[in-house]
Amino acid sequence: MSLKGKTAVVTGSNSGIGLGVARALAEAGADVVLNSFTDNEEDHALAAELGKEFGVNARYIKADMSKGAECRALIAQAGTCDILVNNAGIQHVAPIDEFPEEKWDAIIAINMNSSFHCTAAALPMMRKAGWGRVINIASAHGLRASPFKSAYVTAKHGVVGMTKVIGLETAKEPITCNAICPGYVLTPLVEAQIPDTAKEYGISEDEAIEKVILLKQPSKEFVTVEQIGGIALFLCSDAASQITGTTISADGGWTSQ
Ligand code: NAD
Repeated sequence: MSLKGKTAVVTGSNSGIGLGVARALAEAGADVVLNSFTDNEEDHALAAELGKEFGVNARYIKADMSKGAECRALIAQAGTCDILVNNAGIQHVAPIDEFPEEKWDAIIAINMNSSFHCTAAALPMMRKAGWGRVINIASAHGLRASPFKSAYVTAKHGVVGMTKVIGLETAKEPITCNAICPGYVLTPLVEAQIPDTAKEYGISEDEAIEKVILLKQPSKEFVTVEQIGGIALFLCSDAASQITGTTISADGGWTSQ
């Protein structure tokens, strides 16, 4: 499948899943816009390398996904957006009565509200182009809960709900909206949770991986960013044209339980 002539905006894509999805879309020929809240030389170099590797137009645009106006400005600056991947996300692990208010606000803003703002800004562009794909990177935590992750679980359930509404609102148009719900993918976000999880449970980091993090993932294997990229690519294909307003799990069996 070729995505030549399409532009993909991937929020939070200077590392992890976002970068993996951007790579998969660029490999299929899409022009890509990478994003994060930083504005380092490495961020722009990453886009330049991607563009060179796959022969596509790749840009990096700084925008803080915790701020609605910056979310909308990202899409406006991109100029066109055929494929929107709402991926930016952060995590904080703490019991609810000790959960810092600023962490709660940041997680709700980055992991949930940014999907609303970016989608609202991108849909008119998709309508004008006569084709569009909104791909929300939710989580198994959009379908199931775990202790100590109140803000994350709330935000991801919100994203799954928003996905259904966007799917319904665009159902009669050549636009789809779906959420990918990964189990644990070994990215910087998960690596950063290992010490916190070990501390919460009073166990070693190795035990935290085996007994807590992958406890609910029956395959006992981390999902890869390439696999998430492949699912995003499938959602852009004609075969996926009637898949909308729903979730695709890639969680090694987690949500079968
Ligand atoms: P990551 O930390 O590698 O990537 C997160 C990205 O978001 C980074 O590029 C970071 O720069 C960006 N980001 C953070 N705050 C931002 C802000 N204010 N504005 C713009 N960008 C910002 O983590 P990841 O694991 O690749 O996570 C990506 C998405 O996948 C998240 O939404 C996460 O919840 C989801 N997810 C991850 C896993 C997993 O196991 N890693 C599982 C399910 C869902």
